[in-house]
Amino acid sequence: MQDTVLVVGAGPAGLSAAASVANAGYQAVLVEKETVLGGAPILSGYAKLVPSGEWAKEAIGRMIHNVEAHPRISVHKGAQVERFGGEPGQFSATLSTGQTVSAGATILATGFTHFDSVNKPEWGFGTFEDVITTSQMEQMVASGKITCPSDGRVPERVAILLCVGSRDRQIGREWCSKICCTVSANLAIEIKELSPQTEVFIYYMDIRTFGLYEDRFYWKSQEEFKTKFVKARIAEITASGDGRLLLKGEDTLVKRPIMIPFDLVVHAIGMDPNLDNPRLAQTFGITLQHHGYLERAEFYTNPCGTTRPGVYACGAAYGPETIDDSIAQGAAAASRAMADLHALAKAG
Ligand SMILES: Cc1cc2nc3c(=O)[nH]c(=O)nc-3n(C[C@H](O)[C@H](O)[C@H](O)COP(=O)(O)OP(=O)(O)OC[C@H]3O[C@@H](n4cnc5c(N)ncnc54)[C@H](O)[C@@H]3O)c2cc1C
Ligand code: SF4
Repeated sequence: MQDTVLVVGAGPAGLSAAASVANAGYQAVLVEKETVLGGAPILSGYAKLVPSGEWAKEAIGRMIHNVEAHPRISVHKGAQVERFGGEPGQFSATLSTGQTVSAGATILATGFTHFDSVNKPEWGFGTFEDVITTSQMEQMVASGKITCPSDGRVPERVAILLCVGSRDRQIGREWCSKICCTVSANLAIEIKELSPQTEVFIYYMDIRTFGLYEDRFYWKSQEEFKTKFVKARIAEITASGDGRLLLKGEDTLVKRPIMIPFDLVVHAIGMDPNLDNPRLAQTFGITLQHHGYLERAEFYTNPCGTTRPGVYACGAAYGPETIDDSIAQGAAAASRAMADLHALAKAG
């Protein structure tokens, strides 16, 4: 009977799971395939996070520091689990580094993959340099300067297109990615703070700044920072004669065609299932749900479980999720894993 918990993936969810395990007195082994910890907020260089307004580097940096400094957590960077076997209380994992980890339970915190905008070619990403993604805009904000990649000029007009790679049945993405409306409203504020002369337009189907985010981001962006929200269906982004971009589509409120020039167009990209999921499912002997995210064991009595007893999951591995909820789920998965191990030890 092992009281070590193996955590796979060191984004917000995995960092939280590992810290929770170790703080409760158990051992945690954290395996991360990249050579840096922190998951998407660090790997993709996010700027200020919603809703806290803290820089990602500082907020997630604190989580990384706690994990790296913890005497009961051992961290394997640049490593993956290649083979996995055993049963609850007695699992064995072989890593790509050749090392073997014995663990009583495993938590998968393997997150998501950013939607690749080249799968929406009519909206210009990959064709025009001045069409970028929200991840790239986050990096621009973090660098402190808003410019057009093509020639370095400060954009007069920026368009942010929502639901790129989400809520789009034509390309097999039927889900809402949950956080991109709020992230985009926040980015519009940040663009305006850095470049007050730039006008920002957000093109949307619906606005889903859920819960307490409505006034903090949607109304603030609109009322204090003059972001223009336009309900529209976008057909295509093309080049205009003067070197700028032309956004073509239909304003669906007034039911009129629109053709508007922009200097910079930003795709609010969605959260795809992790591309590794089919391989993870095979290695860990678990099931994926029909979109390709990890399947939950049972929603009400075992929400942190996968379809294999002793293997748990948390965060964006289960579907589009916010950082705060990923962190909460990491702690919940740790707590469930330790409770099940405790019950096993008492029974055995
Ligand atoms: C542009 C953008 C901006 C966002 N901004 C915010 C924001 O401001 N606030 C907010 O609440 N949410 C935001 N989000 C959502 C946020 O990114 C997620 O909530 C969060 O990253 C989920 O954390 P996670 O740990 O579950 O997954 P991830 O962050 O994806 O971390 C998963 C980790 O697992 C590792 N991994 C993956 N596969 C394997 C494997 N096979 N073996 C080992 N390791 C593996 C990955 O390398 C990664 O380190 C944003 C999303 C986008 C797209
Ligand atoms: S959160 Fe907003 S932008 Fe993101 S998929 Fe949902 S509706 Fe679209």
